[in-house]
Amino acid sequence: MIPFLTTIKESYFELPNYIVADAGYGSEENYQAILDDFERTPLITYTMYQKEQTKKYKQNPFITNNWKYNELTDSYTCPNNRELHFRNYSTRNDKYGFTRQLKMYECESCLNCPVRALCTRAKSNKNRVIQKNGNWEYFKAHGRELLSDDVTGAIYRRRKIDVEPAFGNLKANLSFNRFSVRGQEKVTQELGFAFMALNLRKLSKFRKDIDRKIRKNKNSKMINLILEFLFCFKRLLGQPLFVLFRNFYT
Ligand code: SF4
Repeated sequence: MIPFLTTIKESYFELPNYIVADAGYGSEENYQAILDDFERTPLITYTMYQKEQTKKYKQNPFITNNWKYNELTDSYTCPNNRELHFRNYSTRNDKYGFTRQLKMYECESCLNCPVRALCTRAKSNKNRVIQKNGNWEYFKAHGRELLSDDVTGAIYRRRKIDVEPAFGNLKANLSFNRFSVRGQEKVTQELGFAFMALNLRKLSKFRKDIDRKIRKNKNSKMINLILEFLFCFKRLLGQPLFVLFRNFYT
């Protein structure tokens, strides 16, 4: 996403205020780049977004997001009412070179815990350790807030109408399910041709619609003139037939 937005900004036009994308692009790296580097607002869900809204998820006591957090002691309380205290910071680099800062919390004791099997797969002599990424949690909360807002939520929902049907049409209706070439450059070109064909179809349909409207407009003007004439004629003759005729056409 970042190289794509950079190309648009540098070679085509100013980025819009809202960057809308589906859950596949909902990563900490993308959120951070959109907010800090591009200075735009991301309207992007993330992989767990839908699941997190479910009752089952919210009521599962073993999901650490549902555990009570104590700000004063910087600790979480597990389902067995034991405390998980902050242990250390940890830094992780992903394969794209993005660095994440994590906070690690360890349970004071998981010894003889009656729900241990439901809570952790750690070895029996080890306490449960959880990791929290404050930066990512902040971006997720920010995203949830925007998606539940009337205005920004409506902008996000338009993505389904504007973007997805193009792929659906290409794959389901036009049976473009496989590339016939190999290699990134050739595949890019083939996809470019496919999208060009889609755009030409849209343009053709759009022009047909416009032509139809113009014709309809001309016809309706003509019909109105005839009806006006008939209406005047009817007033002269007092025939109810013309009233019916006019109501039918207007
Ligand atoms: S396994 Fe440890 S962290 Fe999990 S519920 Fe039991 S005591 Fe708490």
